[in-house]
Amino acid sequence: MLNKKDSIAFFRDRCKQHNLSMTPQRMAIYQELIKSKSHPDADDIFRRIRNIFPDISLDTVYRTLSKFTEIGAVHIVEGYGEAKRYDPDTNNHHHFRCRECNKIVDFQNKSYDNLSIPRAFQKNFKVTNIKIILEGTCDKCIKKS
Ligand SMILES: [Zn+2]
Ligand SMILES: [Zn+2]
Repeated sequence: MLNKKDSIAFFRDRCKQHNLSMTPQRMAIYQELIKSKSHPDADDIFRRIRNIFPDISLDTVYRTLSKFTEIGAVHIVEGYGEAKRYDPDTNNHHHFRCRECNKIVDFQNKSYDNLSIPRAFQKNFKVTNIKIILEGTCDKCIKKS
């Protein structure tokens, strides 16, 4: 789980390492990302950030988010051809995705982390990360139906 203070320290560190200057806009976009628990897309961030920076363009938000991805400060959630979703939690964790409302929820699971790699991959591939995606209907959507 993300801790705000640690995340910001991590973000500062990433920016410094990659000579990316820490502008108020960038900081605000990053903070919006860590505030949101739902893995927002650029449009979500844009709508929220406009309250603070009325002149900001969607394009700037896009470019900022892809810069963050480039320097490893955020990850892109594996998608299905829809808008890119961003994840500020770069630690190993897994996702539940609701097919109804598209919400993505983080979770930790030790036995998933330690799944064995299929033999076909063991030989010639190097697996560096295991990410499990559970799909279905979330609690809120179940209640609604
Ligand atoms: Zn749902
Ligand atoms: Zn996540």
